[in-house]
Amino acid sequence: MLETPRIKTVDISAQKMIFKAELDKVETAWDRYDAMQPQCGFGETGLCCRVCWKGPCRIDPLGNGPKKGICGADADTIVARNLLRSLCVGASAHTEHARHIAHTLYALSENEAPAYAIKDEHKLLDVAKRLKIDTEGRSITEIAKEVASVSLEDFARFHGEFRWLNAVINPLRKAKFEALGIMPQNLDSVVVNGLARTHVGSESDPLNLLLAGARVAIADVSTMAMGTELSDILFGTPQPTMTTANLSVLKKDAINIALHGHNPLLCEIVCDVAATMNDEAKRLGASEGINIVGVCCTGNELMMRHGIPLAANYLSQELTIITGAVEAMIVDTQCIMPAVVETANNYHTVVISTLDDNKMAGATHISFHPETAIEGARKIVQLALDAYSRRDPNKVDIPTNTQKAIGGFSYEAIIAALQMVDKENPIKPLIDNIVNGNIQGVVLFGGCNNTRVVHDYNYITMTKELAKRNVLVLATGCAAGALAKFGFMTQQATEDYAGDGLKTVLTAIGQAAGIGGPLPLVLNMGSCVDNTRAVRLANEIANTLGVDLDSLPVCVSAPELMSEKAQIIGTWATVLGLPVHIGIVPQIIGSPFVTSFLTQGIEETLGGKFIVEVDPIEAANKLYTEIQKRRQKLGI
Ligand code: SF4
Ligand code: SF4
Repeated sequence: MLETPRIKTVDISAQKMIFKAELDKVETAWDRYDAMQPQCGFGETGLCCRVCWKGPCRIDPLGNGPKKGICGADADTIVARNLLRSLCVGASAHTEHARHIAHTLYALSENEAPAYAIKDEHKLLDVAKRLKIDTEGRSITEIAKEVASVSLEDFARFHGEFRWLNAVINPLRKAKFEALGIMPQNLDSVVVNGLARTHVGSESDPLNLLLAGARVAIADVSTMAMGTELSDILFGTPQPTMTTANLSVLKKDAINIALHGHNPLLCEIVCDVAATMNDEAKRLGASEGINIVGVCCTGNELMMRHGIPLAANYLSQELTIITGAVEAMIVDTQCIMPAVVETANNYHTVVISTLDDNKMAGATHISFHPETAIEGARKIVQLALDAYSRRDPNKVDIPTNTQKAIGGFSYEAIIAALQMVDKENPIKPLIDNIVNGNIQGVVLFGGCNNTRVVHDYNYITMTKELAKRNVLVLATGCAAGALAKFGFMTQQATEDYAGDGLKTVLTAIGQAAGIGGPLPLVLNMGSCVDNTRAVRLANEIANTLGVDLDSLPVCVSAPELMSEKAQIIGTWATVLGLPVHIGIVPQIIGSPFVTSFLTQGIEETLGGKFIVEVDPIEAANKLYTEIQKRRQKLGI
């Protein structure tokens, strides 16, 4: 009997490209996933320890096999230690991202980064105020320099106030963290401390290891806020912008450049330079010039600020190349599959790595530095132009089902829209509608794609399920990518899927804001680092109501969680007091203690918790129940 093929994705464009990949004999992540089966049960449950070279040790969770590693570490210690290590790596990735941006802002203030400018002075002043930096009578450059210096000091600050943390964490939460002794000292040492605790023969108390993870998470939310807000200063704070999404945004008659990764420092300058090389592209025969598209979180950065189309989220990155229409995939850091190099070898695509500490084997490397950004970007774009002559028209097949999307819902953009309803007290209309039940609660979708589940399916299913029950949906990262690709960031989606109360609110705000109809069903708040935009909005609501975040009817969901960055984001959302749904069985279930603490115990101390549910309808039900519990607690 023939086996029914597994459904890999619900994205029709992606399905088409997976089929093309088979015809072109090009392997994808789904093929490698199939080849990997069965995956190791010890790894899946977090019970494999490779901390020292006496190991690897593995604990038998069910049978009569070993219950302790060679050193005596048990399941709880091993799982907690593995988790803490992952959280430290996730936080480190955000740290390097934010540090890079802070360095560039500093270089700019010293006149050493000519490609960059302060694009949002208002945001600079706002950030300076929140960091308690004096702005009176000072030039923009002086203020920028102090904002950059204070930010850089926060990485290693041992004395004085941890400025970004105080700007991000609300006072009631901070008091809880202080009482628990989990306040981090700065952004760097908390990660080093976390890692040091996991060395062989160091900390073995699983609770203390988990509390160290909470400490890393508190620092991480501060780092991420820094990354986002300094990016806004340099590149502008996003405002609602119309764009398109899906693999169909590639153009047959253009030189297509896919920008992939995370940090706006690279993609912004490549866009600027590409705009000056359009005529050259046309001379080469590409009648539509250069077409820039985004992939993963770089895609979100570009979509949010410039309305540049988003081609793919994490799992469809290889498929972008498989269209046969991409001249160059330019990458910086995080979530770039090493496989894209080999995929590109089957076509004419050149993969260009750009960061000296994120090189890719087999890729063309062009060092990109803020000080010489324009020259670097020109070399990079030239490689794309050179590749165009090697394109094989017979290999080109671009899907056609483009979706419209409205992106750009930064905290400021949401407040600006609300100001059209109540100029003096913009947060009031949102709170009033939460109180009167038009909006039952808020769910922020974040996180990745994961081959363990059907690509994009859970996002779509859960959003429909929640929106019809009047839950306001926000999205970031590859969740935002999925929802953009399926047309959920349109006014039509509000008409089609929002419950009556939610539709009334989105329509009233949209009309007051002058967009001639409702706000889109899902508000795109940006890349994964931009999750802190949602934290700022939640803090604003909590502060206005005079409550802590753990009282708000606000939840987070990561139905396809994959990366260590997403793990630390989920952790800080929990630590901030929010229920966090995960649609993947996390690699912690080998420890009864860790599992029970993260899904129950933590709620008693911090108010948040993880909810593991792989069925999307059931997951939506559980989040809705959490929302109702919190509404009851608030007496609304
Ligand atoms: S730290 Fe202990 S459990 Fe881990 S590998 Fe070494 S001996 Fe095994
Ligand atoms: S959401 Fe996950 S996969 Fe997507 S870019 Fe962010 S960390 Fe990477």
